[in-house]
Amino acid sequence: MAYSVHYIINHLGEENKGDYFRAVAPPIIQTSNFAFSTVQQLRESFENEYSTWLYSRGLNPTVEILRKKLAALDEAEDCLVVNSGAAAIYMSILSQVKQGDHVIAVHGVYSWAHQIITQILPQLGITHTFVDGSSVQNFMAALQPNTTVVYLESPTSWLYHTQPLAAIAAWAKQHQIITICDNSFCTPLGQKPIALGIDIAIQSATKFISGHSDVVAGVISSSKAIIEKMFHQQYMSIGSGIQPFNAWLLLRGLRTMPLRWQQVHQTAKVVSEYVAKHPMVRQLWCVWQTPFDAENGVEVSTASCGGLLTFSLQVSNAQRVEDFCNALQHIQMAVSWGGYESLLIPKCATMPLHMVDVHNPEHTSCRLYVGLETAEFIISDLEQAFQKIQ
Ligand SMILES: *Cc1c(COP(=O)(O)O)cnc(C)c1O
Repeated sequence: MAYSVHYIINHLGEENKGDYFRAVAPPIIQTSNFAFSTVQQLRESFENEYSTWLYSRGLNPTVEILRKKLAALDEAEDCLVVNSGAAAIYMSILSQVKQGDHVIAVHGVYSWAHQIITQILPQLGITHTFVDGSSVQNFMAALQPNTTVVYLESPTSWLYHTQPLAAIAAWAKQHQIITICDNSFCTPLGQKPIALGIDIAIQSATKFISGHSDVVAGVISSSKAIIEKMFHQQYMSIGSGIQPFNAWLLLRGLRTMPLRWQQVHQTAKVVSEYVAKHPMVRQLWCVWQTPFDAENGVEVSTASCGGLLTFSLQVSNAQRVEDFCNALQHIQMAVSWGGYESLLIPKCATMPLHMVDVHNPEHTSCRLYVGLETAEFIISDLEQAFQKIQ
């Protein structure tokens, strides 16, 4: 059953307030373990830890409320919440591969997903192919008899490449291939990969769900069968399940997520119009400027979400990019996004200075996350920094 976003955020999982003194805000059940009154009860919980409170590396009541809400937002049967988006990527991939398998992934995936695919999977005898994910034909061309997983991220988080998720999922199902999609950019408010046929949807809860730059966490949503198996294997053995206090902070973040998410997108569009027209800007990338591909089924909603934009500077010397970034007064230079504050990260910081090629627009690009400040406040900070390099 599909609940409204409003119902999920305000009520779902909190029906039994009598269990916790009728408190409006759910309690942080800050306990590592749970007591039993009979040996038989203890025995039953050992038999299936997924069915009861035994130990907080497994299930915990505060985390349970969060899981119900996040699974419902994803329109998934179940979900697990872990200590980072990277852990969500790791667990979802590792749970679906075995020695000798082949994975197809898209270009431009998040750096730690790239690391897992190119550094960790080969150690386990698992090969991979990266493809341009913009059309299903490219996946067909990369198919091998031992392909078992397709790893997607739509849109990607620097140049915002999208993939036709529904078409890829339908094709993968014909070949018994599991599809995994990193949905951090859109969040389930903007795109629901599971409803499009994707098997496993993951996201970094560090971004929009937390929204306050104070928690690192990740979500894995899928069918009950996949999640239950992952719980007994990767979740319990890696032991990276989210702990009660962080789960509670995410519950708090969720209450205002739709408002923040809409506001950020509106402001980002205004800021992007200013950036697009600026004479110091050579190129702008953002989802709402990329014409979406209706024929291939790329979701319309993708173009109406997100607070990220990337622009390259019109400079003849890489030092000018650094001068621009160093001149910012309010926009903070930091990784991550999805919080209340505007953030910027220049591509040149991710490479040795001598490798920066000013003729390559990507090298002189900066990724801006537009936070909850007003557009005028953000634009005036950008303007004074542009003036310093003119
Ligand atoms: C931040 C991010 C991740 C990783 O999440 P963490 O919570 O930082 O581990 C994964 N994918 C995308 C697209 C991200 O932006």
